Amino acid sequence: MKNPIYLDNQATTPLAPEVFEAMVPLLKDNYGNPHSAHRLGRQAAAIVEAAREQVEVLLPAKGKLVFTGSATEAINLAFGAVRRQLESGRKKILVLETEHAAVRDSAFSYRELGFELCRLPVNEHGLLSLEELASEIDHETALVAAMLVNNEIGVIQPIEAIAELAHAQGALMLCDAVQGYGRMAMPKNADMIALTGHKIYGPKGIGALWMQKELEIPTLIHGGGQEMGVRSGTLSPALCAGLGKAAMLCHDYMDQDLAHIAKLSHSALEFFDDWVINGSMTQRYPGNLNIRKDGLDVARLMSTVRDVAFSAGSACASGSGRPSHVLTALGLEPAQVKSSIRLGFGRYNSMDDIEQAAKLINIAAEAQLQ
Ligand code: PLP
Repeated sequence: MKNPIYLDNQATTPLAPEVFEAMVPLLKDNYGNPHSAHRLGRQAAAIVEAAREQVEVLLPAKGKLVFTGSATEAINLAFGAVRRQLESGRKKILVLETEHAAVRDSAFSYRELGFELCRLPVNEHGLLSLEELASEIDHETALVAAMLVNNEIGVIQPIEAIAELAHAQGALMLCDAVQGYGRMAMPKNADMIALTGHKIYGPKGIGALWMQKELEIPTLIHGGGQEMGVRSGTLSPALCAGLGKAAMLCHDYMDQDLAHIAKLSHSALEFFDDWVINGSMTQRYPGNLNIRKDGLDVARLMSTVRDVAFSAGSACASGSGRPSHVLTALGLEPAQVKSSIRLGFGRYNSMDDIEQAAKLINIAAEAQLQ
């Protein structure tokens, strides 16, 4: 069966053919355990270390990188850094209201350890006010967590300015860069950066946490002591190589990808010119278009338009049936939240995809609203 037109590149991306090619030999012939001392093991270890360097090319210099199973795991690992802060009286964790569940729920769980959680509001464009942040951060703040590119509405937060404010009060700064890594420059001054393979045309099942060299985080998974002792377990050289190759492709094609995606976005804006855009248009990654039409029932729209893969918010939020906390944070009414769709454009979409998908979505929306 033919795949639908894929406009859900924020949920996940297709695997780049070059990534597939890079992974196959490691799934077939080079099956060594990268932690074994013999030749096959050493070969596998060399592949893992080469992949680590490839992923690091897109990250600030002078850091260290731990491979994880996902960005969710990387974020859970990063929160461990906060534990040590409690001893020195730092008990506040600040997160943006519009963070992904991985950050929101990690932060929430730290309340049991004695931390206070503060959720920072965003304005109607989805952006954080730096004045608001400055008034909340103090010498009791342990961590500020902020997302680079929002997964639902694509808005870009001023991460370097946020990190500066955090550091001025001696707090750590965690950046969830899942939707920005490989697409734009990474913030130079974050203490920790989380990323994942499956949003950059790489494999699912691998992510990474980058951190400043001197930062030490407690062990998340105990065992054989792999990954600097913080995350034990045998690494998959195939997944590492896949992530490394995907990172290199993003590095080599960053300008080309961005120009292509901006063109797709421009064309989509014309096709959907009578829809309202959710979130800032000036501080936005163009691969995301979150739009709404009053009166529309998006659940019905999605069941009608089966030949286009798109989303009614984040993949996780739409699965739960809960109204999107991101759109709610922008001040949208529940009915407006339920009339919003997210279209995500990527490297492998064509202009024809946009035209066909827009036609199908617009026809179905108009039929519903008649
Ligand atoms: N953070 C953001 C912004 C995301 O979009 C996602 C994935 O949807 C995650 C974190 C979690 O990534 P993973 O699927 O690798 O756990």
